[in-house]
Order: sequence, then structure tokens, then C-alpha cells
Amino acid sequence: MSSPAQKPLVYIISAPSGSGKSTLVNELLKAVRDLDFSISYTTRAPRGSEMNGRQYYFVSRPEFEKMIRDGEFLEQAEVFGNYYGTARRFLREAEQNGRDLLLDIDVQGAAQIQQNVPDATSIFILPPNRNTLEERLRKRSEDREEVIQRRLVTASREIENYDRYNYILVNDLLEESSEILQAIVRSERLLRSGRPLSSEEARTVALADRCRLASVRDRLQPILASFSAPAIPGGNSPP
Ligand code: 5GP
Repeated sequence: MSSPAQKPLVYIISAPSGSGKSTLVNELLKAVRDLDFSISYTTRAPRGSEMNGRQYYFVSRPEFEKMIRDGEFLEQAEVFGNYYGTARRFLREAEQNGRDLLLDIDVQGAAQIQQNVPDATSIFILPPNRNTLEERLRKRSEDREEVIQRRLVTASREIENYDRYNYILVNDLLEESSEILQAIVRSERLLRSGRPLSSEEARTVALADRCRLASVRDRLQPILASFSAPAIPGGNSPP
């Protein structure tokens, strides 16, 4: 971001669990300067090595409900039986510090942010197909079978919302996806700067453009079909 007086660019990233989102987000935060991760509040229990104030702020349901009543959330939603929410103060702090803000939130939260921050850039990460997602969820061996099945059903539902996002990134090869995600963030900054672009910058914008919704519709058809999501209007039939 160029100057503290400018409003922060807000990037929303959503993905079904098991899509490789956390890895991509971590790589992005390492590679791109002046980008803050919005640490959400949640009522779910910490997993594995998660620490309070690092991945999430872990709070009780009564604490979370008080924050709702006090109007502290920019958006909040119930996901898998737990509350999750983005505190307004992160947006204020990003603005004060001249930084952009990255939100890792679900499709319900993304819809609320799109209402409150209409120029937010939204990115949906998709697994290459249902089988790959199932394999990745099993490999994590974090969840019981019934939870894996529930996550797959939720994934199919979430994926139906893909067309509410500006960019769709199919996470097939991690390294390539990571490069494209970084290009999307940089491209939005370059476009906002309004200045003429160098040829390298123009290549970054072109790389990001390949993931714009309008450019990926045909490629999405077989992926959506694998999740039995409705067909894309105007898209080609799967081979
Ligand atoms: P997990 O519990 O696996 O970390 O996250 C479950 C889901 O909650 C993910 O889809 C994640 O993007 C979403 N999530 C995390 N933080 C927030 C938040 O602040 N708001 C909303 N709406 N969803 C969130």
C-alpha cells in the first residue's frame, strides 16, 4: 500500500476446508509486504499447536455474544457449530498503519464484507476435484470419518457460491497457486495505483487476470460437476 491516508485494500479469501488455503495464505503473508492477516475471534477450541492471538482469538460463547451486542464485528457467522467473527478494529488499525488487510473467512462472512466493504477483492480457492479434496481431508487425519463427510457436504454447498467472488484459484500445484495468489494481490495494488505499468507489472496483472471469474468459467465446469453443483450458465459441457 502506498500511503497511510489511503483506505486499505481488503482481500477476502474463502475455500472449503482441505483446499490448501492455510498454506497459500501463509506463503502469501511471507511474500507480500504491508499485508496484515485479520485474526478472527472464534468460540471453537484451539487445535494442535494453535495459539491464542496467533491463528485466532479463542473466546467463550458468552464473550463472543457480548462482542456481537457491542457491535464489535464487521462480520460474523456460525460455521460447523461455532461462532467466527472479524473485529472492526483490524480494519481501523490497518488504515492507521497504512497496510492492507487479508481476511480468511467463509462464504457467509464474505457476503457480509461485500455489503460493508463493496470494493473488497474476493478470492475463492477450489480443490481440483472432489476426490482430491477427500484425499487431502483424510491425509490431514485430523477429523473423524463423520466430520470428513460433513466437510465434503459443506464443501459442495460452499462451492455453489463461487460466482460471488472476483477471482477463482484452482489449487492443483501448490507452488503455481502460490505464485498466482501473490499476483492477484499485487495486481490489485497496481491497478489501484493508476500509474503506467512496466512490462513486468503488466505480466503480473495478466497472470492474475487468468483467474478472473469470466476467464475460468469453462475450466470450472468439470470441477463443479465433480461436486454435483449446478451447471454454469453459458459454460461448455464437460468433455
Ligand atoms: P477452521 O475452524 O477450520 O479454522 O475454520 C473453519 C471456517 O471458518 C473456514 O472456512 C474459515 O475460513 C472460516 N472462518 C475463520 N474465521 C472466520 C471469520 O472471522 N468469519 C467467518 N465468517 N468465517 C471465518
